[in-house]
Amino acid sequence: MRPWNFSAGPSVLPVDVLEQAAREMLDWHGSGMSVMEMSHRGKEFMQIRDEAEQDLRDLLQVPDDFAVLFMQGGAQAQNAIVPMNLLGLAGHNQADYVVSGSWSKKSFKEAQRYGDVRLAASSEASTEINQQTQAGFSWFPTPDTWEVRATSSYVHVCANETIGGVEFNDWPLLSVPLVVDVSSNILSRPIDFSKVDMAYAGAQKNAGPAGLTIVIVRKDLLGGASEYCPSAFNYDLVAKSQSMFNTPPTYPIYMAGLVFKWLKTQGGVAAMEQRNQQKSELLYRYLDSSDFYHNQVEPSVRSRMNIPFLLAKPELDALFLAEAEKAGLLQLKGHKSVGGMRASIYNALPLAAVEALVAFMKDFEAKHG
Ligand code: PMP
Repeated sequence: MRPWNFSAGPSVLPVDVLEQAAREMLDWHGSGMSVMEMSHRGKEFMQIRDEAEQDLRDLLQVPDDFAVLFMQGGAQAQNAIVPMNLLGLAGHNQADYVVSGSWSKKSFKEAQRYGDVRLAASSEASTEINQQTQAGFSWFPTPDTWEVRATSSYVHVCANETIGGVEFNDWPLLSVPLVVDVSSNILSRPIDFSKVDMAYAGAQKNAGPAGLTIVIVRKDLLGGASEYCPSAFNYDLVAKSQSMFNTPPTYPIYMAGLVFKWLKTQGGVAAMEQRNQQKSELLYRYLDSSDFYHNQVEPSVRSRMNIPFLLAKPELDALFLAEAEKAGLLQLKGHKSVGGMRASIYNALPLAAVEALVAFMKDFEAKHG
């Protein structure tokens, strides 16, 4: 058996997908070619691309008036590509950003280079919630507190802060378009496209390998890119060319396509949501019952995907990681900016992985607590 892999990303992929890719490595479906060796304009790759898009549309129930784009540059490139494409829409070069952790803070900073970009709300300072002090970036600013300008072209939010472990999904119906970074929770739960006008994600967590960026955008937001937007990053040109404006990341698209087919065999996004809820509850329940481990995120916005936790004795961090690795539990080290541990439990990790983690943590606590 392979060890359980808790990496935040690039992260675990379904074994079935890796095995299928291995079988098809030298000869895809009798074509005599590896997917990596095919022209992106040939009929074989066009089939792979079309099926990947359709499967993604089916899984997320993407409405027909949305374009699905397969791009490159990762989510951080979108921090610039979003404003270059959307800032001009309402004619004022304005947008508002909700900052709820490290990733949305980066998005906000980068966007400021392109126009009049302001904070709608921020959770960077600590606050009181239910008589508890919540540390900065361990809570989410509720939509009733957002300051959104009527003249803004869009509001940007991050659905799941991968480092802080803060997830929010109860989006308001805004009068300006809502753009959501779903890099670390795409396909783990439904996206309500009646409230979300654009969603984007680097693929390397829940959707496939690194190298592919997924953009799902309402078609009537296309066509307003600024003069200086690179053509290859102009949503309208990318949409019009079926993501073939330039050579797309063919192998990552193929791999993501295999992940989408795997998800369908597992019961789709609804089944994943249920499973992710079960997995995360198991770990949170244990964390809350223990004085040895601690998760500081406000309970109503705890992430189902990325669960950071601290040891009461930080001097044991290195030992915890070394023993976890020996027990077949990989990549549990927390992000360098916050320290401690982080268990990322994406779609491809089954409940058994979280059960193994909790059993290990109990054992470690019994020995060192
Ligand atoms: N947003 C979120 C929520 C992320 O988790 C990450 C990567 N961990 C990024 C943005 C940046 O993604 P990329 O490395 O693909 O630029």
